[in-house]
Amino acid sequence: MTIPVGEPMPIIVQKYGGSSVADAAKISAIARKICDRAETGASLVIVVSAMGDSTDRLIEMARDVSGDRPPEARELDTLLSTGELVTSTLMAMAITAAGHPALSLSGQQAGIRTDTRHGSARIADINADRLKRELDRGRICVVAGFQGLADTEDVTTLGRGGSDTTAVALAVALGAERCEIYTDVDGIYTTDPRLVPSARKLAEIGYEDMLEMASLGAKMNPRSIELAAVYDVPVLVASTFEDVPGTLIHGGPHMMEIRRAVTGIAIDRDVAKITVRAVKDRPGVSSQIFAPLSEAGVSVDVIVQNASQEGLTDVTFTVSKSDFERALDLTRETCSDMARDVVGDSGLAKMSIVGTGMQNGTGYAAAMFGALANAGVNIEMITTSEIRITCVIAASAVTVAANALHRAFELDAVVD
Ligand code: ASP
Ligand code: MG
Repeated sequence: MTIPVGEPMPIIVQKYGGSSVADAAKISAIARKICDRAETGASLVIVVSAMGDSTDRLIEMARDVSGDRPPEARELDTLLSTGELVTSTLMAMAITAAGHPALSLSGQQAGIRTDTRHGSARIADINADRLKRELDRGRICVVAGFQGLADTEDVTTLGRGGSDTTAVALAVALGAERCEIYTDVDGIYTTDPRLVPSARKLAEIGYEDMLEMASLGAKMNPRSIELAAVYDVPVLVASTFEDVPGTLIHGGPHMMEIRRAVTGIAIDRDVAKITVRAVKDRPGVSSQIFAPLSEAGVSVDVIVQNASQEGLTDVTFTVSKSDFERALDLTRETCSDMARDVVGDSGLAKMSIVGTGMQNGTGYAAAMFGALANAGVNIEMITTSEIRITCVIAASAVTVAANALHRAFELDAVVD
């Protein structure tokens, strides 16, 4: 390989997710691609996730040996960090075998320092000196994702799906040209292509729109998008094994001219609702209902309070399905002498139209409600932000609703 003298090579950070590195053959195939890429004259930092579902298996084993108590957070983090170490070491060996010098680095060795919140640590600082030194020596660095070291000198993990965050954070610390996320989908679509056959892959999407799409179900860790947006690092999402163009997430110049008001339709099926019926409408009621939930760590999403009749009102709110039973029990307890009853429904979904472009126009809500009405879909709750309109509907209506909205906002048509 010839390295042009005097010109620093661009640094690219690539991340490969768990399904991409699920077995040795896949790791070797990726290693060969990585070597080809290095030959084009790029300094490469590779971030890897644990193989396949090995993180889930480690969690199961931790529970099995811990009996009735939750596994100890410090030990669990060290245990989970080993999943990524398996991949990073194997990948470094595979790259070396494919002909390019490489080495693996744990999060700690890569200089990633975090706070002490085990299981959901935040990156505080990255000292990239070691990485830079290795890159300067012409090596490809393979970093174990999802982990760092706290000031207590204990290993921490960044929360499920945290390797995306590792990759973007390293791209920031290294001043990389861009971060490339390789996965089992080949990009970001206007909506879920399994539900809407005419869904289209987006060539590009802005950070804000992507953030809404990510937190509402499109596959990417929202924390990593937030980080990319703050430091303005372009992120490519592309397929690991198929050689097709992916989606570039960025805030670049041509994003400033918004060509389409609605970028995509996000679908979130993790929705349950709880209704407190005939509760006395007096000051302090909402606080009485929601304070215990917040203390219990239940995050409440959409909240709707009806107009009161004869001093009584209904309050409805949504929670994630995993919090449903707990939230229902808690609310029943709180409201036992305050309301007629508390009922719940866990078969719901959120459909959102997302687009920064909606800030500059009107009529999007009416168009959305009209499209859903024509498709015979009942809207249970509505909420909006500046760049999103969300309707809570029955989970059974998701496919019909997604197709109706995709058509109504002409998302199948290419605009250039
Ligand atoms: N292996 C971790 C998880 O499964 C981190 C990641 O995949 O990004 O959550
Ligand atoms: Mg994983």
